[in-house]
Amino acid sequence: MTLKQALAQTRKILVSDNIEDASLESELLLRHTLQIDRVQLYLDLGRELSLKQEQTLWRLVARRRRGEPTAYITGHREFYGLDFHVDSTVLIPRPESELLVEKTLDIAHRQPVTTIAEIGTGCGAIAVSLARHLPEARIYATDISPSAIKTARRNCLKHGVADNIQLLAGDMLDPLPALVDLIIANLPYVEASEIPRTGPGSFEPALALNGGLAGLEKVLRLCRQVSTRFSPRGCLLLEVGQGQATVVTTYLRGLFPSAAIAITPDLMGIERVVSLCLTPDYLDARLVHGIRS
Ligand code: GLN
Repeated sequence: MTLKQALAQTRKILVSDNIEDASLESELLLRHTLQIDRVQLYLDLGRELSLKQEQTLWRLVARRRRGEPTAYITGHREFYGLDFHVDSTVLIPRPESELLVEKTLDIAHRQPVTTIAEIGTGCGAIAVSLARHLPEARIYATDISPSAIKTARRNCLKHGVADNIQLLAGDMLDPLPALVDLIIANLPYVEASEIPRTGPGSFEPALALNGGLAGLEKVLRLCRQVSTRFSPRGCLLLEVGQGQATVVTTYLRGLFPSAAIAITPDLMGIERVVSLCLTPDYLDARLVHGIRS
C-alpha cells in the first residue's frame, strides 16, 4: 500500500465515523506512524509502507475510532503557530484560545507589561506563545496539577523560553511570588453535568474542564481573588464558555466599579474573552467592541 492509498483509506474510515477534519487527522496519524513532516509526506506519496508501518497505522486508527483524540495519540498539537507536546494529563489547546493570546498581545502593545501570570497553564501553550512574542516579560505560569507543570516544562524547553517562564504548582494565584500587570486564564468552565462521557472530550482530564455547578465556580473565584495580585495598571483576561460572558462581566463590574471591561467574540461569533483593565486607557477602541457595563 502506498502512502497515498493509506491516506485515502484512513480518511475514508474517519469520515465513515463522522470524525470532523478527517483529512487533517488522517494526515497527522500517517505522519506520526512514519515520523515524517508534512513536506516529506507529500514528497513520498508514491512510496510503499512496510508491513510494520501499516500495522502501526491501523492500530492508531483503531484508537482514534474508539474516541481517543488525535493529539493524545500523536502527543502533539499545534497552537498559535507552534507545536506543543500534549498528553492525557492536560487539556488539548483549542483554536479559540488563540484569541486570549491575541488580546493579551494587544494590551501589551499599548502599555508596558513587565509581569504576566497565566493561571491554569496546562501544557503551557498560552504562556509559551506569549513568551515568544514578549521576550522582555517575566511570566509566571501556575497549575494545580503537578503533571501538567511537567508537560509545560517540556514545552518551555522545546521553545527556548524556560528562562522567561517560571512554572509554579499550586491553586490559582496562591503560588505567585509578586504582583503582576496581567492575569490571564483559561480555567475549567464546563458545567459539571456537561462533561463529555464519550468522544474526544471524555479522554481529557475532568480537572481541566469541570467548572462546577454552572461552570463558573473557578472563574468567579479567580475574579474575587485578582485584586490582591494586580499591579496598579493590572488587567485580567479570561476565556469563557458560550453564554457565560455577560454573567462574568456583571460580576466583575460589581467587584471593580471603575475598571474598563470588554467582551471579544471568537471567529465563530461566540463571546469568548472577557477583559478588564484597572486603567481604562489600556483597553483600546477595538477591544472595547461589545462592551457591557
Ligand atoms: N473550550 C473547551 C471545551 O469546550 C473547554 C475549555 C475549558 O473548560 N477551559 O471543551
